[in-house]
Amino acid sequence: MNDLIYLDNAATTRTKPEVVEKMLPYFTENFGNPSAIYDFAARNKKAINDSRQIVAKALNADMRDIYFTSGGTESDNWALVAIAENYASKGKHIITTKIEHHAVLHTCQYLEKQRGFEVTYLDVDESGILDISKLESAIRPDTILISVMFANNEIGTIQPIAEIGALARERDIVFHTDAVQAFGHVPIDVETMNIDLLSASGHKFGGPKGVGILYARNGINIKSFMHGGAQERNRRPGTENVPAIVGLGEAVRIATSHMAENAEKTRKVRDYIIDDILADVDHCTLNGHREKRLPNNINMSFNFIEGESLLIMLDMEGICASSGSACTSGAVEPSHVLQAIGLSEEMAKGSVRMTLDENISLEDAKKVCNKLKEIINRLRSMSPAYKNM
Ligand SMILES: *Cc1c(COP(=O)(O)O)cnc(C)c1O
Repeated sequence: MNDLIYLDNAATTRTKPEVVEKMLPYFTENFGNPSAIYDFAARNKKAINDSRQIVAKALNADMRDIYFTSGGTESDNWALVAIAENYASKGKHIITTKIEHHAVLHTCQYLEKQRGFEVTYLDVDESGILDISKLESAIRPDTILISVMFANNEIGTIQPIAEIGALARERDIVFHTDAVQAFGHVPIDVETMNIDLLSASGHKFGGPKGVGILYARNGINIKSFMHGGAQERNRRPGTENVPAIVGLGEAVRIATSHMAENAEKTRKVRDYIIDDILADVDHCTLNGHREKRLPNNINMSFNFIEGESLLIMLDMEGICASSGSACTSGAVEPSHVLQAIGLSEEMAKGSVRMTLDENISLEDAKKVCNKLKEIINRLRSMSPAYKNM
């Protein structure tokens, strides 16, 4: 692990050692069910609410509006299905974008196919940003929900969330944002940004996997989509995952107290890598917006390169990254996000995503750049298309 350079923090992060430390007693001595009446177990209820308070503070929210879930996927599903069900009498139209995570896109498709909703999937521009006027013209009298992600998991692009929130509020439409990539990394304020519902996930910012957050503004009807006990104020049944919730709270505390300095550090390394590669490699582009992007996200495309080959060769050098294509049913499919920003199939397939954390050194970054350049030269030297160009 020591020699590994891990550049896949958008996929998941290492659980911080301090977070693990904080979680451990909740597996062993503090194992009680938080719903029990005796003090030994009831203390765990307090531990959960301490985490809830930390999350609420990080979002500038009321702690009564924070619900713990099993992760980002559940939070997205819950938000969308609950609003669809509970506001259907008002209308059956939902607006989202083409670059959402599958947790949102596939839930929208379910609502269309199985539940008779109509969904508008908005285009984004070539840097991955949603145009507010496009959103405005898509609004109809029967629009009940706008769901736009805070920051994209592939290209890191950050949306104009405050403007979207202001518009949704003005039109009296519920606004949900999938903030899984943003929370813990960039400042979020549900009040000034007029966010009604927000999804986040523990393992994307140094917390454990399998625990997430749904923020739901007081007054928004998010009746449970599961049936069971009275946990989480009757909204999310099931015995609470106490160790994970405690860990999540600690991860939020650490992430928010170092947010500015971590962002500054990763941004510097990010820009070093981007500038170095753009300067030294021909036929390559940066995907996503140059400034309006997460401090830790690099996504670049290289002509005449198969992303998969690049990743395998990086792996042999101890560098973990990911690409903009996914192997679905045996064939390599370019990502829907890269297609939505207008990349050709070739450029989408020749993409690599590197997502940093604050521990990456400039020395590691230099090593990554050098290896990347070496590998690209090697791959291109074997490419007839490159040689015949
Ligand atoms: C990772 C991710 C999710 C899913 O979160 P899980 O906790 O892994 O279920 C949803 N949306 C975005 C943008 C993500 O990056």
